[in-house]
Amino acid sequence: MLAKPMPAQPPLIHITEHTHEVAIELIYATENNFTGQIIYAHPLCFLHPTAEAGLRKAVAAARALFGLRLKVLDAFRPQEAQEALWAVAPNPDYIADPKTGSNHTRGVAVDLTLIGADGLALDMGTPVDTMSAASHHFHEAHAAAIQLNRMRLLTVMLEAGFVHHPREWWHYQLPDAAQFPLIDSHTFLACREMLRA
Ligand SMILES: [Zn+2]
Repeated sequence: MLAKPMPAQPPLIHITEHTHEVAIELIYATENNFTGQIIYAHPLCFLHPTAEAGLRKAVAAARALFGLRLKVLDAFRPQEAQEALWAVAPNPDYIADPKTGSNHTRGVAVDLTLIGADGLALDMGTPVDTMSAASHHFHEAHAAAIQLNRMRLLTVMLEAGFVHHPREWWHYQLPDAAQFPLIDSHTFLACREMLRA
């Protein structure tokens, strides 16, 4: 069988700390996530070209508006990884059913936080992927400083063209995310192979 030719614009763009001036700590490439397990077999960070362009705008906005940097915690998520997460936590309020597909598997969703000049993440009130009301935007129990930190991230991401998720302070995605196709394993592997070429 012939391999599918790659389109002129790659379906996914590789994000690195060097090329995008972000910090990257993919939580599912380590055991430091809510599952306590390594979900990704690789530590690579990819986004759809439109989301990648948005991330660049967000990096610039964070710097210009607040003198802060972004730390990417998750981006493109392969379908197998979505299935692994769903197996551990089949909670549709926080995890997309892999049968429907996650916007992370479309490459148009990104989980992230803000970091200061010291490299430390701002206090957002909960760790990433906390599946409780405390993760919701504008949750009343949080102190004003935490509300402000979350609003800084919200401001930066809205300015860059993303939309927020009401239940997850860390999750942003392109508007009309479901219009983008799910990216299959074949395409993802081809993108990974292009990095080695
Ligand atoms: Zn997310």
